[in-house]
Amino acid sequence: MPKTLPKRPLRPATLLVRGGTNRSNHDETAEALFLTSGFVYDNAEQAEATFAGTAQHFQYSRFGNPTTAMLEQRLAALEGAEACRLTATGMAAVHAAMLSHLKAGDRVVASRALFGSCHWIVSTLLPRYGIEGVFVDGGDLAQWEAALAKPTALVLLETPSNPMLELVDLPAVAALAHRAGALVVVDNVFATPLLQKPLQLGADVVVYSCTKHMDGQGRVLGGAVLGSKKWVDEVLQPFIRNTGPSISPFNAWVILKGLETLHLRVPAMCRSAAAIAEFLGGRKEVARALYPFAESHPQHALAKRLMTDGGTLVTFDLKGGKEAAFRFCNALQVIDISNNLGDSKSMVTHPATTTHMRIGAEERAKLGITDGTIRLSVGLEDVADLIEDLGAALDAA
Ligand SMILES: *Cc1c(COP(=O)(O)O)cnc(C)c1O
Repeated sequence: MPKTLPKRPLRPATLLVRGGTNRSNHDETAEALFLTSGFVYDNAEQAEATFAGTAQHFQYSRFGNPTTAMLEQRLAALEGAEACRLTATGMAAVHAAMLSHLKAGDRVVASRALFGSCHWIVSTLLPRYGIEGVFVDGGDLAQWEAALAKPTALVLLETPSNPMLELVDLPAVAALAHRAGALVVVDNVFATPLLQKPLQLGADVVVYSCTKHMDGQGRVLGGAVLGSKKWVDEVLQPFIRNTGPSISPFNAWVILKGLETLHLRVPAMCRSAAAIAEFLGGRKEVARALYPFAESHPQHALAKRLMTDGGTLVTFDLKGGKEAAFRFCNALQVIDISNNLGDSKSMVTHPATTTHMRIGAEERAKLGITDGTIRLSVGLEDVADLIEDLGAALDAA
């Protein structure tokens, strides 16, 4: 018999290295990569029993695959969720979580400060299918209360949000949402599963882009949806099985190996991010620097209540608007200009002209994004080199 993990609760670092591992009959050390689309049956009876659900056997990698299953089990154990399903991208995860649950005539309430494509699903895609989308300012409980006074099928929110690192009082919003009959879906990418546990704070479903911190080294795309076994089996899985947003086993394998160092990478990135936020806040060129665990963050107390650390992103406003922001980005020598985040390489984005260009000036103003706003994803380089690079670029701005 292969060894199995003990039944007693294991800590996150152990789960990240060993959770979900399912050795094949070759007893390999590392998780095996089953790069196969299909599976064979010993005989026709086994095929029949598998399709009838009376025998356990992999059928086809659109529905399930041994490598993918290892990652699903590792993520479920880490999150404290009953079940997990993977998708090809983070957006496929958000899309599957929402569309599997919703039908024409339903109503969705979402925080305004969402990842651009999540915003598009609520504002543009859902109305095409007769599903109403209502946006609220995520930090304003009175707006949530007003919007959730009507029956609602689903609430979608992101905390901390992209790019302004705004927080949502998740326990309070979840209570209002449940009274309205809604499923609460939280996009937990910015916090990572290490810093915030949405299911313990009242959420029903958590979604991730595994592309970000979980891979963490900028190689593959992936997404995950986590929730109760009943919802995943009865609502999500039929949708994924029949619409096919499935992850490649290769990408799942890369993410499995990425997770083995998540608990080392994320705290190191948080330490650097906190130091950088303090450095930026003290510079005359910077109007304000936002970091959830900095005392200057307007929702600092809420951040401390929801999260165990401040995260790996810092967002700041340069006083000189777009010209200063572009001069600053172009002067960086270590930090890259990229719209990605959660990578071992530090990256800056100018949201007004990239990730948040399409939403328009009016919506950007509502979110607090100015032409001088820069989002910095802090990586794993030496923080002293990052601060020197940022300092020299501020001089140039
Ligand atoms: C990146 C991201 C997504 C989308 O993930 P992809 O893997 O790029 O599809 C969704 N939400 C947030 C907060 C993200 O940062």
